[in-house]
Amino acid sequence: MKFENMSVKTFLEESNKGNVNYDDFYNQFFKKLKEADKKYNLLITTNENKPKIQSGKLKGLPLSIKDCICTKDIQTTSGSKILEGYTPPFDATAIKKLKHQGGIIIGKTAQDEFGHGTFSTNCAYKIPKNPLDETRTCGGSSGGAGGITAALNMPHIAIAESTGGSISAPAAFTGTVGITPTYGRISRYGLIDYANSLDKIGAIGKTVEDVAFALEIIAGHDPLDETSANNTVPNYQKALDKNIKGMKIGIPEEYFKETTDEKIKNIIWDNIKKLESLGATYEKCTLKTTKYVIPAYYIIAMCETSTNLAKFCGMRYGASEQTNATDFNEYFSKIRGTYLGEETKRRIILGTYARMAGYRDQYYLKAMKVRTMIINDYKKSFKKFDCLVSPTMPFIAPKFKDIEKLTPLEHYSADILTVGPNLAGIPMISVPVKNLNKMPVGMHILADHMQEEKIITLANSIKS
Ligand code: GLN
Repeated sequence: MKFENMSVKTFLEESNKGNVNYDDFYNQFFKKLKEADKKYNLLITTNENKPKIQSGKLKGLPLSIKDCICTKDIQTTSGSKILEGYTPPFDATAIKKLKHQGGIIIGKTAQDEFGHGTFSTNCAYKIPKNPLDETRTCGGSSGGAGGITAALNMPHIAIAESTGGSISAPAAFTGTVGITPTYGRISRYGLIDYANSLDKIGAIGKTVEDVAFALEIIAGHDPLDETSANNTVPNYQKALDKNIKGMKIGIPEEYFKETTDEKIKNIIWDNIKKLESLGATYEKCTLKTTKYVIPAYYIIAMCETSTNLAKFCGMRYGASEQTNATDFNEYFSKIRGTYLGEETKRRIILGTYARMAGYRDQYYLKAMKVRTMIINDYKKSFKKFDCLVSPTMPFIAPKFKDIEKLTPLEHYSADILTVGPNLAGIPMISVPVKNLNKMPVGMHILADHMQEEKIITLANSIKS
């Protein structure tokens, strides 16, 4: 059987009919995967253990998992040297659900250390290269997830994670589809925290259908995560077949102003017109809080990461050493000084500073108040519109040589279009709409909390 260019759907149909020879399939799959990994640095760990085929909705389907999600008996490092060699004794809830449906974990994808980045250049292991142009980034922090999806022409879905845009950015830069659900829609149990009030597990795939399918399997309440939502999980597959007649779309002006590339704006506008021709209506709108999203996001994310990462002290997980340290602080500093990367250290230091007594009101509490304003801004828009549409990223995937020149602040500013919806915890999807200079452009579709169906319907109608 020829598996090249086979869709996930066809693979699963064949698999469930008993037509797939799994030895043959996985031989072909790992051959391709290894070639791609060698060329583009996509995986931190490959899991070549003979797959245990089990019936279910995902029977025999290869899944790659972002390295910040715990996988039983498979090394999980969250992209950090401080967790090198850590093999969790348990599966994250999302992984349990995927395995329960017969999904096969083929490896852990490369990422920025603890999710700290937009271009997957803050990696302690490999820096993934964009399969569409090796001189460019795959985006981040789930760079490996975007890259592997773009590189493989075999049935596969990538499970990824977003704190401030880490699913949307790589999807836009690699020409893949990335869905980030509402905060709480998917259990975070077993997800290594970056910033716990922002982190969300989601999926990257070749099609809207693939990510909608994955989302349905991993969503739902989990007693092990009290922030997971109780809402019933809708049938996302049904949302694929709906038409968009009468759907109201808002076009946030600020998001176009922040998009530096005129050609990207034009491409997105062409697609908005396309949506109009399919029966949707659109109107420009404003999101006045856009100017506050970067400072609010980075203060909150850094404050949270500075406390969440305190558990990596060289005593419980991963790196530990015989040192001549005489007390805990000395030992802790030695281990963290040695094993954490520069960007992660920067964020721990800035986050700790912003939480200190005396500064807390000025920074952290203020950022939390601004976050409420940002949420209200979106809520107001969703009273009028079903979805908001904009470019996903302000530019196409940048070249590594240009990323090197960015200051940390310029690096953070690249997230201007994605951190707002992530702060608000609303669902979003990035779909590839057209190429510009041979590189893909992503369109971002946002909806109100728990309205994933709307973004799936709209995204599916645009597929080119
Ligand atoms: N680029 C953002 C950051 O560096 C978001 C990363 C993420 O979503 N994990 O924080």
